Amino acid sequence: MQAEIKAESKKPETKRKYNVIIIGAGPAGYTAAIYTSRAKRDTLIISGNLPGGQLMLTTEVENFPGFAQSILGPDLMTAMRQQAERMGTTIIDDEVVNVDFKHRPFKILTYSEEYEADAVIIATGASPRKIGAKGEQEFSARGVSYCATCDGPFFKNQDLIVAGGGDSAMEEAIFLTKFANKVHVVHRRDKLSASKIMQDRAFENIKIKFHWNRVIDEIKGEQKVKQITLRDTKNGQTETLDVGGLFVAIGHEPNTKLFKDQIELDEVGYIVLKNHTRTSVDGVFAAGDVHDHRYRQAITAAAFGCMAAIDVDRYLSEHSS
Ligand code: NAP
Repeated sequence: MQAEIKAESKKPETKRKYNVIIIGAGPAGYTAAIYTSRAKRDTLIISGNLPGGQLMLTTEVENFPGFAQSILGPDLMTAMRQQAERMGTTIIDDEVVNVDFKHRPFKILTYSEEYEADAVIIATGASPRKIGAKGEQEFSARGVSYCATCDGPFFKNQDLIVAGGGDSAMEEAIFLTKFANKVHVVHRRDKLSASKIMQDRAFENIKIKFHWNRVIDEIKGEQKVKQITLRDTKNGQTETLDVGGLFVAIGHEPNTKLFKDQIELDEVGYIVLKNHTRTSVDGVFAAGDVHDHRYRQAITAAAFGCMAAIDVDRYLSEHSS
């Protein structure tokens, strides 16, 4: 049975300097904080503008181990937050606007304060790209999803749309055929950008139907998605499909703009890890979707948070005077 979970609302007392500052409060950030605080490292989380991260936008989470009856995404994140606080973490719901990793101690500027840290864990995550169609925001978590692994099993025997033409879209479409009646792949071009093997698998799947040169125009429904209108990019004509859900799989954007001139990022903006969870700056670590574009699960983000915290603890021991 799930414990009753209440969100903390009072503003905590903060200091200027911490052993560890964690930027971001998703599964990676909270898990890192649980470990660093428990290791008696004075820890501050600066949560950003969506405390709890992407899981705050989902409904039921069925695949996070430990919850036999599943748990709501926001409840899971509130529980992680409370667990971090119980271990002694200070959490502030403020946004980081600038960082200086070139001087020590590291400096982190938020809208309201400047903080210093001996070590930093970046756990700012990644955001799924939005399709930009009418109704997308309104039906988010009510039929519009950005993660088939998370939400697919809720759409048994329904007709669904997957938007996108890359590897993620093919992977999601194939995965969804386990549950769905039919999966319509809607792609804005006349050919896919997915790898050949993923294309072949999708083409071979009799439950998948392709709609070329089409974009999502409008998402309609009542409590949940019921219909989606596609627009032909060549002639502007529209058609409406009766479907129970839309899975948007048009890529992710790592939340790394703040760090662009401070640490090494790859060509699409993900943090490059050097040695386990270390970044290109000694003392700055990263955990979760901000560097991991392969797994992108709450449980893997939490695991990376744990790893970064253990690395930080060792780093601080090595550098203590
Ligand atoms: P991606 O490769 O960047 O593909 C994004 C897809 O979405 C493209 O087809 C793109 O179409 C389309 N798209 C982008 N913006 C759009 C918009 N505003 N409206 C409509 N369509 C839009 O992203 P991804 O598929 O998430 O893959 C990311 C990386 O992970 C890739 O390197 C991929 O190979 C890798 N990955 C690998 C696997 C695997 O091997 N099993 C699985 C998942 C991901 P255009 O072609 O028209 O730009």
